[in-house]
Order: sequence, then C-alpha cells, then structure tokens
Amino acid sequence: MPIELPIMKGRSRSYPKSKKSACGWCGEAITHHQPIAESFCGALLRYTQSDGKKRRDDIFAESADMRAIWRIFWLERDPVTKDTLFGFYLSIIEDVIGGQSCATFCSPKCLRSFLNYCVDKFEEIITKERKALCRKRKCDAAKRTKEGAKKEVSRKQNRL
Ligand SMILES: [Zn+2]
Repeated sequence: MPIELPIMKGRSRSYPKSKKSACGWCGEAITHHQPIAESFCGALLRYTQSDGKKRRDDIFAESADMRAIWRIFWLERDPVTKDTLFGFYLSIIEDVIGGQSCATFCSPKCLRSFLNYCVDKFEEIITKERKALCRKRKCDAAKRTKEGAKKEVSRKQNRL
C-alpha cells in the first residue's frame, strides 16, 4: 500500500486523515469496540502553576509553541576525507503543531507492515543519497561497501 510520507504535517495530527476511523495500513474500518494499536509520539510543554503563595504541581500539556517530528537518520563519514559527517533522513512526522501525534492501526501486524514500509523507504533514500554523494565526491563508496559485505560473507563461509 503506497503511503505518502510524512504521514502527518502541520495541523494534521492524526493518521489516517479520514474522518471515519480506519487502519493506517490496510484501510479497514475500525469500530469503537475493537482493540487497536496506536503509535503515539511527541512532547508536552511544562507549565508551572502558582497560587501566589506556593507552587503547585507542574502540569504538562500541548502547546502551540511545540512541533512534533519523527525522523529516521543515517549518518556516515565522507567517503573520501573520512572527516565530515553526512546525514540523510526519512521524515515520518514533520512539524505537527501542538507537539502531539497519533497513528492508528487495526493490529500489530499492520503496525509492523507500516514500520517495515518506512524502513524500506529509508533504505531507498540511503541508496539514492549515497550514489549522489559519491558522484559529487567522485568516489565509489557504495560499491566498496557492497564488496566489503561480500568479503565478510566469504570470510564467514570459509570459517564453516
Ligand atoms: Zn490494518
């Protein structure tokens, strides 16, 4: 199932976006009577209440000053110089106003499929960005990495 990432941005704070409750992966309708899997993330702003004499317990709540993000990063050294650090990322949730976000799925199986989909997209970004980086840096780090992996497999096979 193709999903547009990020799944939430701006004022959209729940996924899927439809008014009726549905699974974020398979699209099946979700009723109020069935169990669900929710991926809930974000942050709350700390407020301190005071009655003028003493401080009351802190309250944590949403705030228009907060933005929720969920990104998966890939970091690696420059393939030529080995000093500069490069990073590529996949954005799953971006700048959700208020700082809170919630994605709903009908089952752990659908949640897992969604997470696998995100990791697949993440790998696509890494492959694409590394190729672009190597073209720019006139190197072949991606190929070297594959050769290194083959040598590692070969070494393991020799040990057996
Ligand atoms: Zn589902």
